[in-house]
Amino acid sequence: MRIPKIYERKAAEGKPVFSLEVFPPKRKKNKDSIYAAVEKLRVTDPDFISVTYGAGGNIADDSTCEIAATIKRDYGIETVAHLTCINSTREDVQVMIERFRDSNIENVMALRGDIVPGEDIKRQFAHANELAIEIQRKCSDDLDILGACYPEGHYESESLESDIQNLKYKIGAGVKVLITQLFFDNREFYKFIELARGGGINVPVSAGIMPIVKASQIEKTVQLSGASLPHKFTAMIADYEHDPEGLYRAGIEYAVGQCRDLIEHGVDGIHIYTMNDPVVAIRVWEGIRDLL
Ligand code: FAD
Repeated sequence: MRIPKIYERKAAEGKPVFSLEVFPPKRKKNKDSIYAAVEKLRVTDPDFISVTYGAGGNIADDSTCEIAATIKRDYGIETVAHLTCINSTREDVQVMIERFRDSNIENVMALRGDIVPGEDIKRQFAHANELAIEIQRKCSDDLDILGACYPEGHYESESLESDIQNLKYKIGAGVKVLITQLFFDNREFYKFIELARGGGINVPVSAGIMPIVKASQIEKTVQLSGASLPHKFTAMIADYEHDPEGLYRAGIEYAVGQCRDLIEHGVDGIHIYTMNDPVVAIRVWEGIRDLL
């Protein structure tokens, strides 16, 4: 099923779309661990699962396509295959699009990918909107396009306002649904939505939520994300600095609180960054299932 249709149906029911994100296991030999995770995640009855793609744009690696196709075929869950473009040629992109189409994938998230300073990249595509144009040109009838957005502005942008101006290029290029970068302060999300709607961006926006349940995530994810940290969040981290089990419970509770507040404010969708950990995602879902 096409993802924009899912948002339309859920909006008509007055419910948020509930989706999950997974990534291909780094080692090929752990390939099947993703299916064990999806098997467990099934209980949450997600509206779709999205599968990330490496920024390196290596077309020899077809794991995103394979995983997205398998989840759809064997688990009956709709999928979104991510695709980055910064290190791809037009031919590479065409190969990937053909592969998605041949694998019965109907939804693609068009992304630029991060630019690593000093790394040699192809740069035939400068921005995600150019990838969206290419997908539209190749097969607008067969694939729907999603895109990324940033409640606190993308790290390269001068301001949130200019980032939102640039976001309009994506919408103009055919992106029909947006999913946000992770954030911990819902007020930032509400501010972003107000600015985006005021700026004429009317496509559905799902809030990307990452439950923080381990100290190692604080350095790796929280600090790198550049997301604002409200007092409630920093207090939680401080309170459980030496208590891993307490942090695990509090991190899930924090994510549940964020989701419940977002749903009560009428969010179009909740997208959980699962980090391939089904237990955490299921615990968050259990905390919000009465609202889904
Ligand atoms: P763009 O939309 O191109 O934006 C990048 C910057 O350029 C922004 O500052 C923007 O304001 C500016 N800009 C955009 N368009 C224009 C334009 N036409 N002219 C001038 N400036 C412009 N990375 C991966 O490698 N693999 C993944 O699977 C992946 N999945 C993601 C999923 C989500 C939901 C999110 C939020 C991010 C994901 N990322 C992924 C990370 C993403 O690749 C990076 O954040 C990247 O730096 C920007 O990608 P983008 O598609 O938003 O780029």
